[in-house]
Amino acid sequence: MAFFIFFAPSFAFSPYTEKLLGRIGVFLDIEEKELFPEAPDRLVYLAHLGKQGNMDSDTLQVFQSELTCSICMNCFLDPITIDCGHSFCRPCLSLCWEEGQTPRRCPECRGIAERPDFKTNIVLKRLASLARQARADHDHSSEEQICVTHQEAKGFFCEADQTLLCGPCSERPEHTAHSHSPIHRAAEESREKLLKRMGSLWKIREEMQILLNQEAKKTWSFKDYVALRKEMITAEYQRMLLFLREEEQLHLEALEREAKEMCEQLEESVFRMTQYRASLKEMYRELTGMCCKPDRELLQVLANVLEM
Ligand SMILES: [Zn+2]
Ligand SMILES: [Zn+2]
Ligand SMILES: [Zn+2]
Ligand SMILES: [Zn+2]
Repeated sequence: MAFFIFFAPSFAFSPYTEKLLGRIGVFLDIEEKELFPEAPDRLVYLAHLGKQGNMDSDTLQVFQSELTCSICMNCFLDPITIDCGHSFCRPCLSLCWEEGQTPRRCPECRGIAERPDFKTNIVLKRLASLARQARADHDHSSEEQICVTHQEAKGFFCEADQTLLCGPCSERPEHTAHSHSPIHRAAEESREKLLKRMGSLWKIREEMQILLNQEAKKTWSFKDYVALRKEMITAEYQRMLLFLREEEQLHLEALEREAKEMCEQLEESVFRMTQYRASLKEMYRELTGMCCKPDRELLQVLANVLEM
């Protein structure tokens, strides 16, 4: 398998990389480009970096650094290229933008990303997969597991048994019905499955966010309703209080009027009774005087008095 780097307008290499690629030799290779049918025509250059296992450490490092996500510092996983041209793993950017700050900004250049969603950059995705494989091939001596029976590297993955197998082991009768694939391909397929699962989790999470927003809205409108009801109740009681005060005032005024009239009548009555009492005393005094008069005069005056 050959490795290629595409100079796409959507992403650029550092000057050091370009110099290094120049040293290796950059040339157009239409046949090799056909291996990447999704690669758009605007991709101008193909850089042939080397055959599998032939890539030296320096080149591999540069190759990988160009395919490293600046957020997680790992090889791109489901890479997306945003408005400014910078690329990141979709999961990294999803987590980075999670808090929903607007406008969404590029973590690298702070450029504003206006599009709501981004398609996977297929070329970058394939290159990242190649870079992962190149890294695995480069590190194989340290990481490889050797089959004890056949003394061969376990290069295949049995999905049914979920085990690693060497070539001869994978051809044993108990595995005839199984599908075995090279480790890198199996791992990439597992990554795809994980990404799919992550995608659906993220979608559920976004739906949850919508529900949460609705709940928050409900809470706020309920709080608004309570505040409004409070105002209404307060206003109603204030109105009733005012009405009761007015009623109280009218009641008191009526009572006062009634009491005043009654008092006036009583005072009048007391005045009359006092006067009558005084006149009775006067009469008593006159009658006392009369009693002291001589008999004849008494009898004459008495007749006048009794006639009255
Ligand atoms: Zn990342
Ligand atoms: Zn940017
Ligand atoms: Zn074996
Ligand atoms: Zn098997």
